[in-house]
Amino acid sequence: MRFDILTLFPEMFRGPFEESIIRRAQDKGLISIGLHQIRAYALDKHHTVDDAPYGGGAGMVMKPEPLAACIEHARRCNPKALVVAACPTGERFSQRVAAELSEAAGLIILCGRYEGIDERVRKLLVDRSISIGDYVLSGGELAAMVMVDAVTRLLPGALGSEESARSDSFSDGLLEYPQYTRPPRFRDLAVPDVLLSGDHARIGQWRRREALRRTLAIRPDLLREADLSAADRHMLAE
Ligand code: SAM
Repeated sequence: MRFDILTLFPEMFRGPFEESIIRRAQDKGLISIGLHQIRAYALDKHHTVDDAPYGGGAGMVMKPEPLAACIEHARRCNPKALVVAACPTGERFSQRVAAELSEAAGLIILCGRYEGIDERVRKLLVDRSISIGDYVLSGGELAAMVMVDAVTRLLPGALGSEESARSDSFSDGLLEYPQYTRPPRFRDLAVPDVLLSGDHARIGQWRRREALRRTLAIRPDLLREADLSAADRHMLAE
């Protein structure tokens, strides 16, 4: 998948995209990432990308002309891509949205700054506006990194094992069960016996119960949407 990121701060991406799974996914040819400096598409000699909001009020708004030109350029590099704007007023990002985006032919991600983008750019050129949570960041760059990371993990071949993406939190609508590794005892806390038993059916049941318990305790809202079996409901009622 090709990602094109439109930003006033392309340097912010250099370190994060050169490490770990995102680095390996690029090395394997599973993804490629284009970074585009929006300011390069400004029309005046001062490279102005923002202007005062109509109607008054604090802050500045990103001007439509450089944004539109930059999106149109990215579209030529990534012709079938979905255009996503990082925006606190957008739909909430989730594992489901990441899975939907992972099916796209490519993604163009627009990173806002200041008070955000001129609404006409959204209406004319943006397919989806996405918020990564109910808080306000200074810019869309961190949101774009979150989306690229979450989407890349879902691409076949990006992780060491396909199993790890399937068992991650939210993939089945629940939080993941607790994980343990060696040593078997750490500061008086032992690994649950069942995990040392080698009995994969019992381990599976234990993990499911713990995932259900944890989700009930921390994110009961997720249980409303989760696909629960009769056995799951029984475990929850215990
Ligand atoms: N005035 C805007 C508002 O209240 O909705 C906030 C603008 S914010 C300071 C600047 C940019 O950061 C936004 O245009 C967007 O690209 C990005 N941003 C901030 N919070 C975000 C969030 N929760 N999810 C995605 N992008 C966000």
